[in-house]
Amino acid sequence: MTSTIEFKAWRVEEQDGNFKGAEQTLSTADLPAGEVLIKVSHSSLNYKDALSASGNKGVSRSFPHTPGIDAAGEVVESATGTPAVGSQVIVTGYDLGMNTDGGFGEYIRVPATWCVPMPEGWNASTAMVYGTAGLTAGLCVQKLLTMGARPEQGKVAVSGASGAVGSVSVELLAKLGFEVVAISGKAADSLKSLGAAEVVGRDALAEDKKPMLKPAFANAVDTVGGTPLAELLKQILPGGSVSCCGLVAGPQLQTTVLPFILRGVNLLGVDSVEIPLAEKETVWDKFAGDWKCPKAEASAKRIGRADLDGALQAFLKGESSGKIVLDHEI
Ligand code: NDP
Repeated sequence: MTSTIEFKAWRVEEQDGNFKGAEQTLSTADLPAGEVLIKVSHSSLNYKDALSASGNKGVSRSFPHTPGIDAAGEVVESATGTPAVGSQVIVTGYDLGMNTDGGFGEYIRVPATWCVPMPEGWNASTAMVYGTAGLTAGLCVQKLLTMGARPEQGKVAVSGASGAVGSVSVELLAKLGFEVVAISGKAADSLKSLGAAEVVGRDALAEDKKPMLKPAFANAVDTVGGTPLAELLKQILPGGSVSCCGLVAGPQLQTTVLPFILRGVNLLGVDSVEIPLAEKETVWDKFAGDWKCPKAEASAKRIGRADLDGALQAFLKGESSGKIVLDHEI
């Protein structure tokens, strides 16, 4: 056991029902009990972090609290020996940044079963470009492939295409040879540069009273839920699949059984948080290898702890775009 270490963290305090984040000096003795102490070099910003930082009790119950659902860095203490001291690891999901102090601090202490070994030849900075959003995109694509999705079956749609999950999904599916139709409320140019063959507006998935529509897509990744997902299901070719991971357009799904019983459509739920570590590891290894998304990696914005407040506010106002990496050295 090494001695106590002082470190910096962007910590959220509650005062009279108001929540304010600021840099504080903490000690590793302040961290929760756990098997592995990690010196975090990089984290990644997600909407859930903005909810935690603004006092959403569904995400983080008690304050003061250090958000950051993603973290990557070096193991400095390991009660179990695996992961080994000195090795690099990635931690995403489970309770990190929710009710366990997260990656907006320079140190975290977590169970060994939360730590994915850093893929060979990769580093924390690159891993955090993908973060939970990239991992989720990878899991969505993996589910489609497992269901037998192949480029020759026809177009694959991606909703919420300009978002963090959507944009990695677009780039990855295009890289795997699929003809991608990006469904987006944003301008087409950036989505075409990610590899989308076609960009259509969100009205392609606007509410339509007809119970079924002409099939347009062999498969799809849906990151928005709500009415757009219900409309997407009506437009999937027989035997096709839709990976569903998000709810920005609403958690309700009002549909009929018709897409399922008339066309054999598969609706595939995707969770990136609580799944077994081995499933996360498989996707991380792919992003470090054949699934590398150079455009996502090149376009990520890097910020320091001093920029967190503004960046998280932008998330809450829906003004954020592209991936944001927190670099503790900035
Ligand atoms: P972002 O905010 O980065 O992107 C969401 C995108 O959805 C926006 O960029 C926009 O894209 C589109 N959008 C926003 N509002 C609406 C609306 N009202 N109707 C239709 N489209 C809309 O979010 P992420 O990509 O990070 O996450 C997407 C979803 O996935 C979220 O709901 C998130 O909670 C969820 N998620 C789930 C995980 C899991 O484990 N299941 C893990 C990570 C995220 P455009 O303008 O291009 O249409």
